[in-house]
Amino acid sequence: MDRLLELQEIDSAADRLEARRRQLEVGDELRAARAAMEETEGRLGELRLALDAVAREQQRLEYEIDSMARKAQAEEKRLYDGSIVNAKELEALQHEIANLKERRGRTEDELLDQMLRREDLESRASGLEAEMAASRARVEEIGGDAVKELEEIDGQLAARRTARDALVPEVDEELLELYEDLRRQKKGIGAAALVDGVCSACHEKLSALELDRLKKTDGVKRCEYCRRIVIFT
Ligand SMILES: [Zn+2]
Repeated sequence: MDRLLELQEIDSAADRLEARRRQLEVGDELRAARAAMEETEGRLGELRLALDAVAREQQRLEYEIDSMARKAQAEEKRLYDGSIVNAKELEALQHEIANLKERRGRTEDELLDQMLRREDLESRASGLEAEMAASRARVEEIGGDAVKELEEIDGQLAARRTARDALVPEVDEELLELYEDLRRQKKGIGAAALVDGVCSACHEKLSALELDRLKKTDGVKRCEYCRRIVIFT
């Protein structure tokens, strides 16, 4: 009978540990948060690649515009410095200058497109960065010390199981069966100490008559109110 209280203590401790374990539920929740973070990270990575490409293209266009401008300037100088007198040659030069200016105009339009594209990508990237920070915070919040705590819980549960296995053979089989039944029916508590005539499970004070009867019986003693097994302490 005394061993039963020890068993109840072990079982209650194990129940609390199991409840905490379920509460942590690190598995699914953390996995989902990690997946969300990785997904955001992937999108951000793609966006940054696109931004790099746009930046390179912008640089290339700027260089091209600059070189066309310099070339047109040089040609214009040649046009007016009197170095060319041939009318056909002058006409060809004028043509080339006009051509350069037209190409430059088109390239400037392209540059403007790239700049708008870059702005759009940059604003999307900063949105994703904020999203990323939020997902990371979420992962840390859920993950945090949960993994460590889970390991501790598993260790403690294993220790309780070992202690339980050692104790069980010392308890009468029928008593054990009743105890397990009661545990299932009564929120995990099958056995309780009787302290000064009070059942420590339901906190009812047993009548003097019942206490007297229980003291005299050799069989299983049960609380007259909650019907749990009671043990005099
Ligand atoms: Zn009781």
